[in-house]
Amino acid sequence: MSVNLFHFFRKNLDKLVRLVDCDVEEPNDAIFFHKADKTEEIEVSQLIPEINKEKCTYCRKCVEYCEFNAIVVIPPVKFAEVNASLCHSCGACLVACQDNAIRENPLPIGKVTFYDIHGDKELAEGKLKIGSAMQTMLIRELKKQISNESEIIIYDAPPGTSCPVVETVNDADYVILVSEPTPFGLYDLKLMTELMAEIEKPFGIIINKAGLGNTEIYKYLEREGIELLGEIPFSQEYAAGYANGNLFGKIPVQIEKCYLNIIEKLERRIMVYEGDNNLKW
Ligand code: SF4
Ligand code: SF4
Repeated sequence: MSVNLFHFFRKNLDKLVRLVDCDVEEPNDAIFFHKADKTEEIEVSQLIPEINKEKCTYCRKCVEYCEFNAIVVIPPVKFAEVNASLCHSCGACLVACQDNAIRENPLPIGKVTFYDIHGDKELAEGKLKIGSAMQTMLIRELKKQISNESEIIIYDAPPGTSCPVVETVNDADYVILVSEPTPFGLYDLKLMTELMAEIEKPFGIIINKAGLGNTEIYKYLEREGIELLGEIPFSQEYAAGYANGNLFGKIPVQIEKCYLNIIEKLERRIMVYEGDNNLKW
């Protein structure tokens, strides 16, 4: 959905649009752009504390400060170590240690890669290193690298409702939730709408694979007064094109029309939004 929105935004709006793949555990947006050239790759690291046993007095103050239970200090056997996989690099243990026994070392957690599609680094992705659990930190770094000159940025969020999703949407002006008219789709959608209410983000819904499942999701949207931005009908032809990595130019005409309707709706919002900076979406 994000890739298609990016494609149709670029085609129909005279704006500098960027697509940022924040699904750092399995980024796949770049696969759809056969002409995307990798232009830059930045390694992202987190700082992991290391305890110098020569200087450590085994006071355990750092253990008390660490909210993530990442430090083990056992004074009788003079054991002091940091578990890198639990550490969130908050720096609290450095503040706690009065004996200058802790220093930080960089540990790679993944990469940020930029691609040129029309020559302007329009696509960026984060890719987490296998074994790292620092999705949120990598997404934060990825978003920091995106040029301020972008007029529209589409963040392709990971699925679910956990911390990486919150990190992806926390500075968005508007969130587009994509769901399916099935019991699973409705269940996840309810979790997402609760999250949106909690973080106070304006949002709308696109129903994908419309025509499958049942009508419960529509009843839910009506009951809750949630805006339906549009529907993309289920199409085997479209699904087969997607599975082959052929989205653009091979989209069935009736599906292309659905995307154009959604873009039109969003475009009207953008124009109103740009006209009045104080206005909320
Ligand atoms: S940096 Fe923070 S999370 Fe990591 S070991 Fe120190 S206190 Fe714990
Ligand atoms: S606070 Fe410093 S001195 Fe105390 S146990 Fe931790 S590393 Fe050692």
